[in-house]
Amino acid sequence: MKLSVVIPCYNEELNVAPLQEACVKAFSGRVDSYELVFVNDGSQDRTWEALKALRQAGLCPVKLVNLSRNFGKEAAMYAGIQKAAGDYVTLLDADLQQSPDIVLQMVEFLDNNPDYDSVAAYQENRIEGRFTSWCKKRFYRIMDRICDIDLHEGASDFRTFRRSVALALLDVTEVHRFSKGIFSWVGFHTHYIPYMAEQRKHGTTTWSFWKLTKYALNGIISYTTFPLKIAIGTGSLMAFLSLVYTLVLVVEKYACGRAFPSGYPTIIALILLIGGLILITLGIIGEYIARIYIQGKHRPIYIAKEYLTYEEG
Ligand code: UDP
Ligand code: MG
Repeated sequence: MKLSVVIPCYNEELNVAPLQEACVKAFSGRVDSYELVFVNDGSQDRTWEALKALRQAGLCPVKLVNLSRNFGKEAAMYAGIQKAAGDYVTLLDADLQQSPDIVLQMVEFLDNNPDYDSVAAYQENRIEGRFTSWCKKRFYRIMDRICDIDLHEGASDFRTFRRSVALALLDVTEVHRFSKGIFSWVGFHTHYIPYMAEQRKHGTTTWSFWKLTKYALNGIISYTTFPLKIAIGTGSLMAFLSLVYTLVLVVEKYACGRAFPSGYPTIIALILLIGGLILITLGIIGEYIARIYIQGKHRPIYIAKEYLTYEEG
């Protein structure tokens, strides 16, 4: 098997058939052998039925994984990579925003450049709102500054890599998955190509601004302990300032003989400030401990209830 295309699907009943057609059209006669590995990530619509119909129709080899509930795109991709048999593995969205023709370019690049292990596509111009785009840019800048890993700005999960990379990705078994970080962390020689995302064919994106923010925070907390350092830094600064303030008060009272009015407002303000800082610090530490707690349970990344494959040979 030359190429496995892993496609996570969440409520994509109308997209999966056109996507398969687009793949068959792009790959026929150009890629020796390929398979499509669809992962149904607990869709609430009829995606699973649509996928089974595709498999029945037999347009091309299709593997289907049905997760027992919605585990999120990251877990769905993991499940798909685990079932992928190809020498090359591609991660592709189900909504036709990413063209199979670009997959072909990726495959050709890997064929012609044996020293590269992976080809990732990044969006040159985003079609999303300006504000979201601005926030994403800021996120990449911040990550770049505070993390040891290097994230390529605009690079999505849309990529094709060799089997060796797929095995490395499977070795990373953390539950809180932030794939952009994982791709960078496992290393390997990666080539970046620009692409233009198309409009979503059917349905709507499931990534609300809030979900994206959570995802970004997850990325930061998974890949750096920098927030803990901020907590320690601000805490130390506050402690130092309060020491200086106390000294100033002592000097004013005994050296300058100044009489102080009752200072309730100052005291209350300081208590609130310090209390707030302590709570923030505890919150940050709590986030890290929660991760240790959840990972410590050693739960699987996903649970599949069905797996349908095809006759190989
Ligand atoms: N997806 C998934 N599980 C989820 C959310 C999304 O498998 O919980 C899939 C979705 O079906 C699509 C891909 O991940 O194939 C990208 O999702 P979407 O198009 O909503 O994201 P966007 O393109 O807006 O970043
Ligand atoms: Mg999309």
